[in-house]
Amino acid sequence: MTDYNVIVIGAGPAGYVAAIRCAQLGMKTACIDKWLNLEGQASLGGTCLNVGCIPSKALLDSSHHYYFLQKEAITHGIQCDNVKLDIATMQARKEGVVKTLTQGIAGLFKKNKVTSITGTAKLIANKQITITTPDGQQQTISADNIIIATGSTPVQIPIAPFDNEFILDSTGALNLTKIPERLGVIGAGAIGLELGSVWNRLGSKVTILEALPDFLSMADRKIATLAQRELKKQGLTINLNAQVTSTNIINNEVVISYSDKSLTVDKLIVAVGRKPHTDNLNAAEIGIKIDERGFIQVNAQRQTAIDGIYAVGDVIGGPMLAHKGSEEGVMVAELIAGQKSEMSYATVPFVVYTHPEIAWVGKTEQQLKLDKIEYKLGQFPFAASGRARANGDINGIVRVIADVKTDNILGVHIFGNNASELITEAVVAMELEASAEDLARTIHAHPTLSEAIHEAALGVDGGMIHA
Ligand code: FAD
Ligand code: NAD
Repeated sequence: MTDYNVIVIGAGPAGYVAAIRCAQLGMKTACIDKWLNLEGQASLGGTCLNVGCIPSKALLDSSHHYYFLQKEAITHGIQCDNVKLDIATMQARKEGVVKTLTQGIAGLFKKNKVTSITGTAKLIANKQITITTPDGQQQTISADNIIIATGSTPVQIPIAPFDNEFILDSTGALNLTKIPERLGVIGAGAIGLELGSVWNRLGSKVTILEALPDFLSMADRKIATLAQRELKKQGLTINLNAQVTSTNIINNEVVISYSDKSLTVDKLIVAVGRKPHTDNLNAAEIGIKIDERGFIQVNAQRQTAIDGIYAVGDVIGGPMLAHKGSEEGVMVAELIAGQKSEMSYATVPFVVYTHPEIAWVGKTEQQLKLDKIEYKLGQFPFAASGRARANGDINGIVRVIADVKTDNILGVHIFGNNASELITEAVVAMELEASAEDLARTIHAHPTLSEAIHEAALGVDGGMIHA
């Protein structure tokens, strides 16, 4: 007789969602997580809530208000002389948001009768887990099924090891209490662009060094070009093709050598990706297969090499995104409960929360060209949108790409204010295998930013009205 039907290891967006869904489906469920906040208290929600999605968006929002008041409010007839920054209050607000939401997960666990256990889990044979609590106590519990959702941690590169005083990982970059005059960032990915934007808006001179020759290589080329141009206008220096060869801390400054050039900054953020987190889990030792990059290998049902042990979220690779992990968590919970469940990786949306935001779903033009798929394209600029004009935020475009023969939507790419919200319409349309005509014949409220998607869909067959 086991202690639980399901034990979930990790309470990030993959694990906590899996645990709640398991409990909803009538399974006796426990979720083990080791995260402690700076006050030494258990803090559920994993990377996303504690040091990822949520605190970064809190700072993006605060820094955008500051930027708006300084640079844009005047165009609305609002004079904001002497706008002052109180970084301590800004950081305290961010921490407050994190605390509310992490405590919210604890509340959801209670409501759904998930047993929450604070401690570090180690897998042992026969679906048993040893838990070491923060005060060093140990206990062993067992389950019929185990879901591993242990997430990921920042990649460290040997030429720029984190000291979290001068060379920062993403957590250090979220917690600065003073605005660095000069800030370097290695990596122009989601973290580099988002946190680079935060500190640029707050007054740092930000230089981003990206190894690849293309800016945001995964994004649609036209969107990437527009975004790069706009971020440059906002003051970010983005150097592509930058091969960093060394970093040295000299007299409280970081001297970075890259591609025969040199850059001196006060702080350096290294944001070159994240790696799966399986340290001390004992996964390989009990027979779970791990690939050469450290990701846990799973089959289509997200089951590992051991019957009844599943893995979801960042630790299995694919897009390292909170919503991807959460959907996997739901799917595995339902499969364990004996239901039919699957998720569609083709419609996972991607968002970069710069201003304007960059968001997309489905294929890019460049992918379609490579795959030799014939497509048609409609695109609409926000400059022609009544709502964007009224908002005073007219940067960007929407691009809708559809199959030449079937008219099915193959991809939607947005650079614009609120793209993170707008993209959901495209995700739903693609999930339901809609055609561009379906979107074009759908009534959109006026005046809204979503009319830009409507117009771009109309544009697929040359029927755009407002541009
Ligand atoms: P995690 O969130 O990493 O959670 C894993 C949990 O497992 C942790 O709480 C950890 O303590 C626990 N754990 C690990 N090992 C053990 C063990 N042995 N015993 C007990 N507990 C253990 N994604 C988005 O979709 N949108 C965003 O806007 C976004 N912004 C981000 C901003 C930043 C700065 C960062 C760093 C990431 C961001 N991400 C974003 C990525 C997102 O945070 C991750 O994709 C997501 O958190 C992965 O969820 P997960 O549940 O797989 O793992
Ligand atoms: P990333 O993979 O998004 O970007 C890393 C960038 O660093 C890439 O452009 C890569 O080419 C570059 N790079 C790698 N090695 C380099 C080197 N030695 N020198 C210079 N450049 C180098 O990774 P990230 O920005 O660290 O984010 C980590 C993960 O967190 C990602 O998987 C991302 O999806 C997720 N995340 C998502 C969001 C979001 O959804 N808005 C926000 C933040 C983080």
